[in-house]
Amino acid sequence: MAVMGGGLGGLATAALLARGGCAVTLYERSKQLGGRGQTSDVEGFRFNLGAHALYQGGAAMRVLERLEVKPEGGSPGAGSYLLRGGRLQTMPRGLVSIMTTDALGLSGKLELAKLLASLGGVDASTLAHTSMRAWLEQRLSREDARDFLMAFTRVSTYCADMDRLSAEVAVAKLQAMPKVLYLNGGWSTLVSMLESRAREAGARLELSAKVSAVVLTEDGGAIRGVRLGDGTEHAVDAVVATGGPGDVAELVPGDAALARDAARAVPVMAATLDLGLSRLPRPDALFALGSDGPWYASVHSAVAKLAPEGGAMVHVMQYLGGRGPEASEARLEDVMDALQPGWREYVVARRYRPSLRVTNWLPTAETGGLSGRPSVAVPHVRGLYRVGDWVGPEGILADGVFASAEAAAHALLVGQQAAPRRAAGG
Ligand SMILES: Cc1cc2nc3c(=O)[nH]c(=O)nc-3n(C[C@H](O)[C@H](O)[C@H](O)COP(=O)(O)OP(=O)(O)OC[C@H]3O[C@@H](n4cnc5c(N)ncnc54)[C@H](O)[C@@H]3O)c2cc1C
Repeated sequence: MAVMGGGLGGLATAALLARGGCAVTLYERSKQLGGRGQTSDVEGFRFNLGAHALYQGGAAMRVLERLEVKPEGGSPGAGSYLLRGGRLQTMPRGLVSIMTTDALGLSGKLELAKLLASLGGVDASTLAHTSMRAWLEQRLSREDARDFLMAFTRVSTYCADMDRLSAEVAVAKLQAMPKVLYLNGGWSTLVSMLESRAREAGARLELSAKVSAVVLTEDGGAIRGVRLGDGTEHAVDAVVATGGPGDVAELVPGDAALARDAARAVPVMAATLDLGLSRLPRPDALFALGSDGPWYASVHSAVAKLAPEGGAMVHVMQYLGGRGPEASEARLEDVMDALQPGWREYVVARRYRPSLRVTNWLPTAETGGLSGRPSVAVPHVRGLYRVGDWVGPEGILADGVFASAEAAAHALLVGQQAAPRRAAGG
């Protein structure tokens, strides 16, 4: 079997398949593994590709546990503020603190407290075709209360487009309020651990190896092999393709259904400013979430090992899309001015990325939320599977990646019991 792509999805799939007894070869087109899960070392600061937090209680943790990968790090919480009009305000952390925060007026507080108290009784799955904005407008009349829930929706989904986002996804996140983990050493530690699991189980990993096409049987209905960028062909009867919907469509030129999926995909984008500081001007201010705009700042090194002794690693971010403003580095600096006044004096490392693809598929109300995403098995090409944050009915972000990896591996392992398969390799 062949796996295309050596990000978290490809590595997890290769490890699961190899553990299940399959001969598997993973092809990664770039020189290194990790994809969007990479971490760079800049002057001793560990920069993920923008702010990354591992959500607890979802598919990612479930599959990592199956593979005996134990992520280590810490959970944020202390020193948290809402940011409104450039000013920090108390972050309410529960029904009681909602009543004492300065972030909402009295009517907003009462309305919000009432909604949060009844949230457990909402069946989120009935909201797949409702947009988050429509749901908020039905349930809340006060703008400050809506802004508050939009801020929490942004931080838990990375999505700023409330007109498109399916309320199914957003409400489920508000109900669960999952704890998150910032990882010691960054997300590349996940990549390394998954790489080890895949290799230990016997998977072959090939770098600088682009899959340029899948080779189909004469009737076009099944996989016969993969063709690499160097022109070589390798016989396999199953391919798990990771990457984005466009990468998968490229594998079968002229395939209208795959091209349609690629055209339907609305990516979720973010602008990120990653900072390494020699010290924090305000050690008690660790997290800010914009309630009147799509802003985020968090001192990840406060709870995870990501900075040299005494230093601090901060991710600042703008959620892009929807009615929000264009990406702006200056606005991200303003967010830092509010959280850590005087920070510029202590900058050791910085990196601005105006447009990163957080996920490949915004689960929209128009396409029916999570169940509107493409299926793991490509129905019309036997042996072709896809894995990623845009595939299958479970989970968003890395949860979607690991859930689809698990589903693809399961389908192939069940199929293998019926007929032995070949690894790629000529
Ligand atoms: C700014 C930012 C913040 C994020 N924050 C979070 C977060 O807090 N929590 C969370 O859960 N998720 C987060 N994510 C999302 C998470 O990083 C991704 O969902 C996850 O890393 C995707 O893994 P993947 O393996 O599916 O895809 P990718 O990481 O994109 O990997 C795909 C790999 O396939 C390779 N490839 C593609 N085409 C080919 C080909 N033809 N041949 C060979 N190789 C190929 C690519 O080179 C790449 O290495 C964030 C992402 C970003 C950018």
